[in-house]
Amino acid sequence: MFNKVIEFIRCLYPNKDLIPLHEPTFTGREKEYVNYAIDSTFVSSVGEFVNRFEDMICSLTGAKFAVAAVNGTNALHIALKLSGVSPGDEVITQPLTFIATANAISYCCAIPIFIDVDLNTLGMSPEALSSFLDSHTHMTDRGCINKTTGRRISACVPMHTFGHPCRIDSILEICNNHKIKLVEDAAESLGSIYKNKHTGTFGLLGIYSFNGNKTVTCGGGGIIVTDDEFIAKKGKHLTTTAKIPHPYEFVHDEVGYNYRLPNLNAALGCAQLEKLEFFLKNKRSTAESYKTFFENTGIKFITEPEYANSNYWLNGIILENSKMRDEFLKATNSAKIMTRPLWKLIHKLEMYKKCQHDKLINAIWLEERIVNIPSSVRLY
Ligand SMILES: *Cc1c(COP(=O)(O)O)cnc(C)c1O
Repeated sequence: MFNKVIEFIRCLYPNKDLIPLHEPTFTGREKEYVNYAIDSTFVSSVGEFVNRFEDMICSLTGAKFAVAAVNGTNALHIALKLSGVSPGDEVITQPLTFIATANAISYCCAIPIFIDVDLNTLGMSPEALSSFLDSHTHMTDRGCINKTTGRRISACVPMHTFGHPCRIDSILEICNNHKIKLVEDAAESLGSIYKNKHTGTFGLLGIYSFNGNKTVTCGGGGIIVTDDEFIAKKGKHLTTTAKIPHPYEFVHDEVGYNYRLPNLNAALGCAQLEKLEFFLKNKRSTAESYKTFFENTGIKFITEPEYANSNYWLNGIILENSKMRDEFLKATNSAKIMTRPLWKLIHKLEMYKKCQHDKLINAIWLEERIVNIPSSVRLY
């Protein structure tokens, strides 16, 4: 059976010795824009491409404001700070995510709580969230307090796994009822829509990543989006060393960060964003081919949940059990087809072992079975 899968993936990505999981493609005006940035001498943290990139993200997502950052992790760090996460607070997230989600919480000197995911969306389960909050917290004038630890739960960070939107509207409602700020880790879901609204724009803040393996890349990059003008201004201030604007004086009014996206990276990002529609069509057609192929194989291909239009950033399949998963990983990787298991669940990692979590039944089930398969844009 695995040989048939290998054969099929080789047909999808012909003329390649090693088939990567997700490689970028540069078929637009990337070189032109990067050259333009070099010729202008504005290669660093000031320049017209940064503004243009932010504007393009706003019109794409419908967010009112965007603040570009050096990468998605830093964007999330600042988004959490802007949402009001303070040292000693707790932040709810899912254990099934890339490490950046939990690390950004740690950078705020806050402590993550891990809540289970849906089997079909792979994102945070509203039922699990609601049930945790009902049994473990109570409301005070300080906000939502964890009865076990006495700490305040200030934010909730669901993640749109592999680009598939989670049930973000239900999560938002639960957060609102508990006075918890919603910050979306939409790092993987640029171009993914849930109920006619772009993922990342449901929460008070959202972030996207433009790392080399994401749908659109800046080389490295990230961006914060919000509809709140005050928060956006504060975000720009914090990511640019908290310098008070002045023609020549250097005065900073708080401990800021040097997180501004360089113009050179923004130039690449602008050219990539011009290709987004093509990328999305291409990736959705690849997913369609996978779906048809896997229908009669006994292997489940992960499709977009109801009400969602996914970017299909990373395609995934669900094997019967962990033994089959391991055999599949071995067979494909030794045939030079890059595949990989799910991230190790974060609550199992040394630095997050002591964090509170619910039973995580779905997350554990998925961890034993999911494999990501090649998903790059196809150029033929
Ligand atoms: C990629 C990613 C990030 C962070 O992105 P970087 O740009 O690599 O810092 C954050 N969260 C998730 C879920 C991601 O997949």
